[in-house]
Amino acid sequence: MITRSPADVQSVPLASSQERAPWQRQLAGIIRDPAELCRRLDLDPAWLPGAEAGHALFEVRVPEAYLSRIRPGDPTDPLLRQVLPLGEETLEVPGYLADPLQEAEHTPAKGLIHKYAGRVLLIASPSCAINCRYCFRRHFPYGENAPSRAQWEASLDTLRGDASIREAILSGGDPLAASDRQLAWLVERLDAIPHLKRLRIHSRLPVVIPERVDDALLGWLSATRLQKVLVLHINHANEIDEAVIAACARLKQAGVTLLNQSVLLRGVNDSVTALAALSERLFEAGILPYYLHVLDPVAGAAHFDVPDDQARELVAGLRQVLPGFLMPTLTREVPGEASKTPL
Ligand code: SF4
Repeated sequence: MITRSPADVQSVPLASSQERAPWQRQLAGIIRDPAELCRRLDLDPAWLPGAEAGHALFEVRVPEAYLSRIRPGDPTDPLLRQVLPLGEETLEVPGYLADPLQEAEHTPAKGLIHKYAGRVLLIASPSCAINCRYCFRRHFPYGENAPSRAQWEASLDTLRGDASIREAILSGGDPLAASDRQLAWLVERLDAIPHLKRLRIHSRLPVVIPERVDDALLGWLSATRLQKVLVLHINHANEIDEAVIAACARLKQAGVTLLNQSVLLRGVNDSVTALAALSERLFEAGILPYYLHVLDPVAGAAHFDVPDDQARELVAGLRQVLPGFLMPTLTREVPGEASKTPL
């Protein structure tokens, strides 16, 4: 049995209700109760015991905007599969680990991960708007890496002192779960480091709560001299509705390059049809497919695994139906390697 207290998952610090932006109000109201999730989606009560068991290890988090894209009464819905805890999460499977990418070994300062040459990853927020059941950081000790100004100052000092770093990557949790005030403060200081050229943000928030792309966010994004790349995380075409397309259009107007990384997940996108539809829909939203990751072997997610041979066959099939610029690179992250490893 994998054990983890939901208390390990830190809540996003929120402003008082009068000060909250619409996206923050949505964030405050996300579904965190497996019984409510099952009830709202009209699922057979037989799903509840497994959902409770999985939730005890990694809590349920589903925003309303995402819930609205799930077909009620359909336990096979590809969006539901990403957020519904299952009893399988409690199984111990050989090779599936709490820290499959050994990130704990690459943490020179709290809240900072330095794995690859020229790039440094800062944990900008300890939490997410959605908890994806296959997440490789589902056991990450966010409590120990929760950012504070003092911690960010220490991380900034590391960046200032290493002229080989050209790119700062904001990650999490979800970095855009931090307030715009906090992010503007951080980005202003990154902006002042002369050897930094790019700001990369890894986020799922513009997808799961499109209202996150508001004037305040676009304000600090537009103000920085750094080149901006937003790597979204979308696994299925049904995740992209008109609100997501509108949010992406605003980001592009602000000079942000939009890329997507997905995870190949059994029961979600493990068919040529689903992957082709995803690439087509991404391009309609102005997003380029970037990576298709095989699953990281994180404890509690073995039921999502797609074997390597099948993954290669899927990509070969995808190549038959898509132009090259819509092909994501099939890749695996191997602990200790200097870059991601193409399959
Ligand atoms: S949004 Fe990203 S970091 Fe957060 S749970 Fe999902 S996959 Fe993990």
